[in-house]
Amino acid sequence: MKRLFGTDGIRGVVGELMTPGFGVEMGMAIGTFLGKGKIVIATDTRTTKDMMKNAVVSGVVSTGIDVLDLGIAPTPALQFAIPYFKADLGVIITASHNPPNFNGIKCIDGDGTELPREKEEKIENIFFKKKYKYAGWENIGKISNEKINEEYVNAIKKQVNVDLIKKAGLKVVLDCANGAGCFTAPYLLESLGCRVVALNAQPMGVPAHNSEPTPENLQELVKTVKAVGADLGIAHDGDADRAVFVDEKGNYIPGEKTLAFLAGEIVRENKGGLVVTAVSSSSSVEEVVKKYGGEVEYTKVGSPIIARVMRKKKGVFGGEENGGLIFPSFQYCRDGGMAAAKVLEVMAKSKKTLSELIASVPTYFLYKTKIPCPEEKKEKVMEIFIELMKKEKHKLNTIDGVKVCTDKGWMLVRPSGTEPIYRIFAESKNMEEAKNLAEKGKKMIEKIVEKG
Ligand code: MG
Repeated sequence: MKRLFGTDGIRGVVGELMTPGFGVEMGMAIGTFLGKGKIVIATDTRTTKDMMKNAVVSGVVSTGIDVLDLGIAPTPALQFAIPYFKADLGVIITASHNPPNFNGIKCIDGDGTELPREKEEKIENIFFKKKYKYAGWENIGKISNEKINEEYVNAIKKQVNVDLIKKAGLKVVLDCANGAGCFTAPYLLESLGCRVVALNAQPMGVPAHNSEPTPENLQELVKTVKAVGADLGIAHDGDADRAVFVDEKGNYIPGEKTLAFLAGEIVRENKGGLVVTAVSSSSSVEEVVKKYGGEVEYTKVGSPIIARVMRKKKGVFGGEENGGLIFPSFQYCRDGGMAAAKVLEVMAKSKKTLSELIASVPTYFLYKTKIPCPEEKKEKVMEIFIELMKKEKHKLNTIDGVKVCTDKGWMLVRPSGTEPIYRIFAESKNMEEAKNLAEKGKKMIEKIVEKG
């Protein structure tokens, strides 16, 4: 069966996959799947937000489900709204960091975590078979408008020591990427006593820079942190479920360093505990977590999977290396606002600069490469590769592709879900070793593919 939902909901170009007709039918499929109850819906700031939202809402109410429309809100605020309004499901109209000609539809389960794959399949099944349930004119769902952003900000503040952060009086340059964070992040930081210089805080559908928070896209933030002598810079992506940081010297902090640093802090606060992250994450996370007496559990790549494992195994923290951080004391989803508040709290508590704090995280180097492999050979190639690695007596993790742990570092070989290739990642304490490991893996895969 064809798939519509990827790891982060349905994404597509407006006018191609993302049309009003598609929105209506997806709304009908979601409503039919739910059967009864109510949903909450929100959007990011894209120019097509209302077109897609109104289409989805129209489809949902046709099945007899009520809709609370929250307007523009970050994805984590929408997730917070589900238990807040006792809704049965959430829908967020966003394509996160994708360019402005994209939009997307993501469903959140009644527990505030992204819908698991089995439920997405049920919705896809209804969509492809067009087995929609119509409620009839007398039972059409009701649409009402509600607000969540202020409550979401207040709820984050209950998670941190507000007085302590206020006392520190930190100066922050904030880059909202003209996204949904414009409606929460400046207010959160100001109410935590920060002096805020806000960049790209106008909620325009066409952002001033691409909203993927990479070093290339955050040049203005880096420059401004240095120019105004700020204590740190914070950037969100388009739907503000992620946060990345810049230190007081204007250094962009890679996401895996923030992940490892916060994992260490939270494990230390909890005097131990489980941290959950994807098998592709840096060894720096495990190194820091173990130092403070915690453990790491590795999962398949994808934040919904990480969140569900955290819930099941009572993890104290989790996340991804792209700035998607999950704080279970608040909610089981990536939360850019919560990540910002937590970093401010750690800075205030320690009275250290962000560069000093991050310096405690060991540096590893990641090398990436890829190798072509025909789709029909992928499974067999992987089997043979695993057998060869077993003979070399390396520690293996096969939860997502195969991760080979050696004394010099690790190598991860994963089949691409969208292209006829294998992706190879290797990490080590020096770049040369990482490259050697990856190239060794690449040669082995190449040989196996040739032998066929
Ligand atoms: Mg996002």
